[in-house]
Amino acid sequence: MKIFFDVDYTILGLDNTLRAGTVETLTKLKNDGHEIYIWSGMGQRWEVIEKHELGPLVSGVYEKPTHHFHERLEELGVPFEPEFVIDDYPEVVAAFGGVLVPPYFFSRTVDQEMDRIYKIIGEFVLTGTSEDRQYKAKDTS
Ligand SMILES: [Mg+2]
Repeated sequence: MKIFFDVDYTILGLDNTLRAGTVETLTKLKNDGHEIYIWSGMGQRWEVIEKHELGPLVSGVYEKPTHHFHERLEELGVPFEPEFVIDDYPEVVAAFGGVLVPPYFFSRTVDQEMDRIYKIIGEFVLTGTSEDRQYKAKDTS
C-alpha cells in the first residue's frame, strides 16, 4: 500500500525527536512491500527526513492538504491518492482512512503507538479493516 505518515505530533515531537519505534516500524513496513510517504501541512519536510536519516525508507515527501483533501492533491503535486494515512488530525484520517494517533510531544513520553500502527496495518491488509478503535475507515459519505 501507499502509506502516508504525517510529521508533527505523529512521528515528530515538539522537541524534534522521533516517536519511539518510528525507524523500526517504517523499516518493517518497507520490508513488507509497502511504500512509505511523508507529508505535512507545513510543507515538504526534507529537514526532518535528513536529520533523522529517513531517506532510504521513504518513497516520497509531499505537502499535505489541510482542507479539501482529495481536491487539493493534484495542486500540491501528490501524484496519487494515499491508500492509508497515519495522522493525529482526525479530518485527514477520515478523508483517506487509516490510523488516528494520539499526539506525540516529547521523547520522555514513551508509547507503543508505532507497534499498534504496524499491527493495525497488518490487520487491514488481511481483512480490509481493523478492530482497533484507532483505525478509521475512509469516510465515503
Ligand atoms: Mg500532525
